Amino acid sequence: MKKACDGLVLRVTDSGENDRALTVLTAEEGKLHIIAKGARSVRSRNASLCRILSYSNLELHKKNDLYWLMGGSLNNAFFGINSDLEAFSLASYIAEIADEISGENFPAHEVLQMTLNTLYAIENGLKPLWQIKATYELFAANISGFMPDLVTCRDCGKESFEGELWLDVMNGAIVCPVCLSKKNGSLPVPDTDRFETRNILLPLDASALAAMRYIATAPLKRIFAYGLSSKESADYLCRAAETYLLNHLERGFDTLTFYHTVTK
Ligand SMILES: [Zn+2]
Repeated sequence: MKKACDGLVLRVTDSGENDRALTVLTAEEGKLHIIAKGARSVRSRNASLCRILSYSNLELHKKNDLYWLMGGSLNNAFFGINSDLEAFSLASYIAEIADEISGENFPAHEVLQMTLNTLYAIENGLKPLWQIKATYELFAANISGFMPDLVTCRDCGKESFEGELWLDVMNGAIVCPVCLSKKNGSLPVPDTDRFETRNILLPLDASALAAMRYIATAPLKRIFAYGLSSKESADYLCRAAETYLLNHLERGFDTLTFYHTVTK
């Protein structure tokens, strides 16, 4: 059976003697696993389609439950990302998150669109890398159904906060300092609760919270269109977004470790 579809290469591994195995994200079917025969050969006409981050119209042949790459045409290779190590390391992390949050035989229109928008934003420097990263991490949490409840303090129902407040990572909630100190007597908060589960409480301020609320509700084409009021607010957002996603996916990413080493 032959078919053609647009897909973004998220992962490339060697296969057989001269082949490549690709994990490709498509809108209609989510992730596809594709074998590209002979793609490691320098003479392969499909080599450009088989690079990580290549977005192409792919011609596929399905046989024995496997997709084989027959040919295709490149839509966008995001070449501009390859020349900058920080940009490339962030893009690799984004691709790994996209792989993690997508399934097979399950439409992925929004994840594909957001991932393409994010790669475009990285390549063209539309926003600082830390902001692009935090936005994608919270998008990933949101689309996976575990965004925290950012509307009110979970205990008193307050909606607006002037000073510092806290993100309760494991319970997906925000809590104001008054409620937190009532519950815990005095700060700092113990790092395990009475059920011996890990408590992770991260500080936020009004600007970081506003950014998180914005990301949770903005249309994809406007999702990067927000600012932070200070460097401190930006640091709160970055720490919250990364810690929240990793704890809810219950895993780390080698590409994230690499991103941190190159952006230090
Ligand atoms: Zn409260």
